[in-house]
Amino acid sequence: MTQFREAVVDLDAIAANIRHLAQVVGGPDGGPLVLAVVKANAYGHGAVPVARTALAAGARWLGVADIQEGLELRRAAIVAPILAWLHGPDADFAAAIAAEIDLGLSSLAQLDRAADAAALLGRSAAVQLKLETGLSRNGAAPDEWAELFARAAVLEREGRVHVRGIMSHLSNTSPADDAESIACFDRGIASARAAGLAPELIHLAATAGALRVPESRYSMVRLGIAIYGLSPFDDADSKDLGLIPAMSVRGQIAAVRRVAAGAGVSYDYTWRAQVDSTLALVPLGYADGIPRQSSGRAEVQMGTSRYPVVGRIAMDQFVVNLGQDTAEVGDEVVLFGDPASGVPSATDWADAALSVNYEIVTRIGHRVTRSYRGGPSTEVDAQQ
Ligand SMILES: *Cc1c(COP(=O)(O)O)cnc(C)c1O
Repeated sequence: MTQFREAVVDLDAIAANIRHLAQVVGGPDGGPLVLAVVKANAYGHGAVPVARTALAAGARWLGVADIQEGLELRRAAIVAPILAWLHGPDADFAAAIAAEIDLGLSSLAQLDRAADAAALLGRSAAVQLKLETGLSRNGAAPDEWAELFARAAVLEREGRVHVRGIMSHLSNTSPADDAESIACFDRGIASARAAGLAPELIHLAATAGALRVPESRYSMVRLGIAIYGLSPFDDADSKDLGLIPAMSVRGQIAAVRRVAAGAGVSYDYTWRAQVDSTLALVPLGYADGIPRQSSGRAEVQMGTSRYPVVGRIAMDQFVVNLGQDTAEVGDEVVLFGDPASGVPSATDWADAALSVNYEIVTRIGHRVTRSYRGGPSTEVDAQQ
């Protein structure tokens, strides 16, 4: 039974995606390790159940943006290696070190802060140095490498840090831009080694690089969007990549009404019925992450038919035009899911909203009940 507002997450699809991706990126020697990116509540899918599923399917590492996200996984008794790579000036490095969360660090100041926090705890901080290789976001710039690596080598000899990894991130702008970033990254790795560091993890690729830029795979790949079954590419969909979309967002029709030709629909009457029409009310809106931008452009599935969203998407609800068809209050309406089953995809909604599928799934809000199918054990279902 569909709930009022529901995001059904198929954990078996996530497991299958991870196994498939490991095979695609793996070489004869087993290939790079897989780090499953579960930041932002696992792109809206639920961090803890996705993390457990990913690990059971062969992922060796979990990746998050913030330390708080890593601590949430630890509170759920997940003991696998975790890397967190985005920190504010007050980020709690001590809590991360105590919880054995690796710190992705982008500056000398962060490195010193991690070493100081480790010293207070009487332990060593496991760190992965993040290099700026083109994105102009986070990471130490080439002219900062010599000082950063020299300091890291000293701290490592003193037992205050362990430089476990070196990392960066690609822009996916073009093959030439990625090649330039790779060359820059290689210079960074060489410079780190020359300073006496011996990082065992070297990683650059997210999904796009892992799938299309083999030289970016190094010893680990950080896979986000693809484990959720979605494509990062404009020219390939989930099916082309052998992936199964894991999230389906659906709801129950809250009202059905017949209107006469000329009736206006929703705020500002941006749409009026051309002929007498049946309208159905869907109880999801922009508070639930349904993009207002897709007003009048997206479609939903009811039974075997597609119907257009008409008028403005509001905070809690929107209207679809059933034309001369009918429906009952309580009928299931599917906004998106696996297009192999005939429903619209998250990418269809992204296209309607002039956005990307990442944003569509990640923004599905707290009011939408998550329910889980499959997974590594029944325990996972019971805990959700
Ligand atoms: C979000 C993120 C990823 C995952 O990217 P996808 O395109 O979803 O695979 C990998 N690495 C870093 C640093 C990220 O911030």
